[in-house]
Amino acid sequence: MNYKDYYAILGVPKNAPEKDIKSAYRKLARKWHPDANLNNTKEAEDRFKDISEAYEVLGDSEKRRKYDVLGSDWQQASAQAEQQRRYRTSQNEPFDFGGFSNAGGAGSGFSDFFDMFFSGGGGARRTANANVGARRGQDLETTIELTLRDAYDGGKKSVSLQVEDACARCRGTGTENGRLCTVCHGTGRVLQNKKFDITIPRGIGDGQRIRLSGQGGTGTAGGASGDLFLVVKIAEDPTYKRKGSDLYVDLPVSLYDLVLGAEVKVPTMAGQVTMSIPEGTQNNRLMRLAGKGMPNVKGAAAGDEYVRLIGQLPQSLTDKERKLFKELSGLRNGKK
Ligand SMILES: [Zn+2]
Repeated sequence: MNYKDYYAILGVPKNAPEKDIKSAYRKLARKWHPDANLNNTKEAEDRFKDISEAYEVLGDSEKRRKYDVLGSDWQQASAQAEQQRRYRTSQNEPFDFGGFSNAGGAGSGFSDFFDMFFSGGGGARRTANANVGARRGQDLETTIELTLRDAYDGGKKSVSLQVEDACARCRGTGTENGRLCTVCHGTGRVLQNKKFDITIPRGIGDGQRIRLSGQGGTGTAGGASGDLFLVVKIAEDPTYKRKGSDLYVDLPVSLYDLVLGAEVKVPTMAGQVTMSIPEGTQNNRLMRLAGKGMPNVKGAAAGDEYVRLIGQLPQSLTDKERKLFKELSGLRNGKK
């Protein structure tokens, strides 16, 4: 049996933080995934297996700690494991070798070195968690894109989302009949599309989360499922810009509406309304329609809608218009 240097396999230093280990694993797993190495399958499979095994240990803080402590002393650990195995057989109790018992399993598909450490000398199934008991499933998170209209109206919506879930083929164990699972290639996780019926709170905003209780990762050994969190992303709206609960809209108006005052139609999320422009209004003025913004997700007062008046100056004047504008200009400049 050979000592496995999991740090070397992932190409990370012994003190590498968790996130570096994860990103090294992801990079290597992508590179050596058997599906991406079709003319080099054998090497890819071996590499992928090593990488998965290394991450199985280093990606789990508990296993990593034990590997760090006992890994270099593996021969002694091996002898101890053998002793423990005999003990277990005679006691018919879940094997517990310093807590190494609940992963790997006999014929995990990983190396003998891994099995020696993490299988409990045979018997304990990777997912059994026999000495740990039920374990709650993971909380998962994914992004959901909603329109401004979805956020304004709120209510029920059926959505299809890609979520990471336990592999159904191997039930998240990563192995099948002692071999790496052919579906998830040992990761125990797969991405799949699932339909969800969600309830959108009125006024929900960018970056806020919707929790789907019990729709996360499947628990093990009878443990409850985790939750699924949907992180909301509101798609850009062609009409409105949103700032908090307030909405902003640009409204083109004629020169005459600004100069003489007018009643104009303005779009709001609740439908068109009529707004009065006072005589002598300056171009680019921001008018406020109180309470016409977004509902407040916490139930407080709704936001406002701000309407920016964008004056449109007349172009291609007729002779008569030109004459009248000149006359107006003359009046303004004190000439008759
Ligand atoms: Zn699988």
